[in-house]
Amino acid sequence: MKVTVVGAGLAGSEAALQLARSGIRVDLCEMRPGTMTPAHTTGLPAELVCSNSLRSNLLHNAPGLLKEELRMCESFLMKAADSCRVPAGGALAVDREEFSRTVREMLLDHELITMKEEEVNDIPSGEVIIAAGPLASKPLTDAIVELTGSGSLYFYDAIAPVIDFESINMDRAFFQNRYEKGGDADYLNCPLSEEEYFDFVRELKSAERVSPRDFEKEIHFQGCMPVEAIADSGDMSLAFGAMKPVGLLNPLTGQRPFAVVQLRMENRAGTAWNLVGFQTKLTYPEQKRIFRMIPGLEKAEFIRLGSMHRNTFINGPSLLGGRMRLKTDERIMFAGQITGIEGYIESIASGYLAGKLMAGLQTLPPADTALGAILRYTSETATDNYQPSNINYGLFPPMADKIRGGRRARREAQAERALMSLGKWLVSLSAVSFQ
Ligand SMILES: Cc1cc2nc3c(=O)[nH]c(=O)nc-3n(C[C@H](O)[C@H](O)[C@H](O)COP(=O)(O)OP(=O)(O)OC[C@H]3O[C@@H](n4cnc5c(N)ncnc54)[C@H](O)[C@@H]3O)c2cc1C
Repeated sequence: MKVTVVGAGLAGSEAALQLARSGIRVDLCEMRPGTMTPAHTTGLPAELVCSNSLRSNLLHNAPGLLKEELRMCESFLMKAADSCRVPAGGALAVDREEFSRTVREMLLDHELITMKEEEVNDIPSGEVIIAAGPLASKPLTDAIVELTGSGSLYFYDAIAPVIDFESINMDRAFFQNRYEKGGDADYLNCPLSEEEYFDFVRELKSAERVSPRDFEKEIHFQGCMPVEAIADSGDMSLAFGAMKPVGLLNPLTGQRPFAVVQLRMENRAGTAWNLVGFQTKLTYPEQKRIFRMIPGLEKAEFIRLGSMHRNTFINGPSLLGGRMRLKTDERIMFAGQITGIEGYIESIASGYLAGKLMAGLQTLPPADTALGAILRYTSETATDNYQPSNINYGLFPPMADKIRGGRRARREAQAERALMSLGKWLVSLSAVSFQ
């Protein structure tokens, strides 16, 4: 068996190394340096295109748990990152060039991996892992659209902030659907008075925004403008748009509010809720300051903050089966950010899973592990607006028992559960492979 991996980024490099570890020959095709992306600057594999931080190393942060799981699974890129570490407090930051060079050595050292400097313009024949990343080349994305159908590949993300349910003040917020439609209320509503609305809009308009990189300036937002850009277009625009109060009555006053911010469930467990229509390019500190002005969200804990940028990704849940294979052509797998996960460490994890699954892994990682959460997010998320996600505790099933001691204690308990589950899973795999 031989597998073609398209893209020697974070996911593709990890996938290739996992395949080779399982004794499978790999052609790893990378278009750089001959053809560059707008963000990469070298011809090295696994280039970190922006920050040199792989985020937190602490277990009560989900990226910290994911790293620990990858260490337990003997991920090659995780090992490389740990070996190139630079001081960064509770985070794992690396010397980016040393990191990429270490990965290149690992790839070159493996006799089963052939590195090919070539741009892949069509879907290769045979078994394939497409790990071409958020800046996949145009001919390849055209080929993916031809394969999967129009409307299945997105070129920009539009992410609204997601909030921990337990931090919402339910003395102000209330469950209700517009005009009481549907059975159970699907929406949580935060009502604003006229004064609160205009204060909010004023702050939104003057808040600091992230400046787009050159290659992102051509974005046409159309149906999904950033919330601050809508506010710029007129003080009442939001009151007639995402914040319109029609069909809603505040149970506290019996009146229709002047405006309303609606939240919709982000996960089945109802522990995470997103702000409907609030995709934004505000800086992270400004998002926290301004969205906490919304009545009911004064003490909001953000599971993730909003963002909008150039990002090529497929609609994972509609196209991929639970084993990362294309439902309509099972010889093709997708891995990395192109599946709709986001972040360096998540892309490494996705590459790990793709390599293992392509090599014949039968039992999937348990749902309460970070690896399981990533796999399920990209294949099972039930949503009409699939958007990339990084790893966060909102993607995990809730604990059966209530954990006292606050958010950090809850997260630590979830991390402990995940590491126990992963340990058992790894033991079960080694038992199978020794038979
Ligand atoms: C501008 C920008 C900044 C980012 N900053 C961060 C950050 O600070 N922190 C963070 O956690 N995440 C960040 N991300 C998100 C993401 O985690 C990284 O992009 C990550 O590298 C994704 O890993 P990947 O393996 O999926 O893709 P990549 O690492 O991008 O790898 C894909 C590879 O495929 C190659 N390729 C593309 N098309 C072809 C083709 N047709 N033929 C052959 N090769 C091809 C590319 O050259 C590239 O090497 C950023 C993304 C972007 C775009």
